[in-house]
Amino acid sequence: MSFSERIKAYAHQLGFDLVGITPATAPPNGQAYSDWITQGFAGEMGYLERHVEKRRHPDYVLPGVRSLIVVAMNYRCPDAEAIPDDRHRGKIAQYARGLDYHDVMKEKLLTMLEYIQREADKPVQGKVYVDTGPILERDFAERAGLGWYGKHTNLIHKRLGSWLLLGEVLVDLALDYDRPATAHCGTCTRCIEACPTEAIVAPYVVDARRCISYHTIELKGRIPDTYRSMMGNRILGCDDCQDVCPWNRRAPVTQEPTFLPRPWTEMPGLIELLQLTPEAFRTTFKGSPIKRTKRRGLLRNVAVALGNTKDPNAVPALIEALDDEEPLVRGHVAWALGQIGDDRAFAALEQARQTEIDPNVLDEIEKALH
Ligand code: SF4
Ligand code: SF4
Repeated sequence: MSFSERIKAYAHQLGFDLVGITPATAPPNGQAYSDWITQGFAGEMGYLERHVEKRRHPDYVLPGVRSLIVVAMNYRCPDAEAIPDDRHRGKIAQYARGLDYHDVMKEKLLTMLEYIQREADKPVQGKVYVDTGPILERDFAERAGLGWYGKHTNLIHKRLGSWLLLGEVLVDLALDYDRPATAHCGTCTRCIEACPTEAIVAPYVVDARRCISYHTIELKGRIPDTYRSMMGNRILGCDDCQDVCPWNRRAPVTQEPTFLPRPWTEMPGLIELLQLTPEAFRTTFKGSPIKRTKRRGLLRNVAVALGNTKDPNAVPALIEALDDEEPLVRGHVAWALGQIGDDRAFAALEQARQTEIDPNVLDEIEKALH
């Protein structure tokens, strides 16, 4: 068995579903990435704009790097058949239903790097990344043969579908390289048609500024009015373009127990979420990727979803949340009350208008009243 084959066998032993190796030369779609940034499609994700050159040249990240060992883990959750997908419950993207994959995968990747350093016949310099690093990982994954870049911009594997989390080990060691994957989207355009906000502006191009995943996770401030109604009950991320992909029809459920849904991540009740105190948020979402939105981001999204229910039963909880400590939450709660628009909602908004001191919240209250 060659050293490359032993590395791959070890990666599978650690629980990675896919592994491939590619040379650390510039990725083929580097220019497309730069163009995407230049066109403003990254929205407020400033971290993507930084280090554009680094992303295109792995040598900037690890001088002398020769190879990238790219891995993928399947995070597909079982269907939550027992819990109805109704508008009073929040929908959370599958990747965020378990524990934070960054922690889970990074530990495995570091173990893999240690193995390479221990077993190689010379000293090895290396680095590991799980999606936050300055690496165009989908490009490298495609070139390492893990799958192809779908029109919805996620990587697709013929057997596992697109429910894949990627990571990589960079090493200054020459290894045996895999052949790039071939593309199999063909004439299909299902993901483009299914996107509720028309965020897939062309095959292989997502305008993040239109994408619900961006609005509910990445965006720190107010959600633009245009997209609020389109969010429906999606309170963290969106899987619509992946749900309709034919390559996901037979995708197996994850083998990684930490990726399975936790309490509170399978269609949680919206009103209960809106009532989470800061302390309860911290303890409930400890170890979960949901904590990335912080309480104010999650409750902002929950308020929008409650507004989208148009259900008068949500009014008492929303009125209570008009006193939330976070102006971002109060502003979106005001919008939600305006959407439901019964007498109690308008009376509470009128009252809040007298006492509210934050200009952004006042603006939301004024709009909700008109
Ligand atoms: S995640 Fe949702 S909003 Fe974003 S591109 Fe896919 S379907 Fe559209
Ligand atoms: S839905 Fe169709 S076009 Fe979109 S990624 Fe899947 S196969 Fe490709």
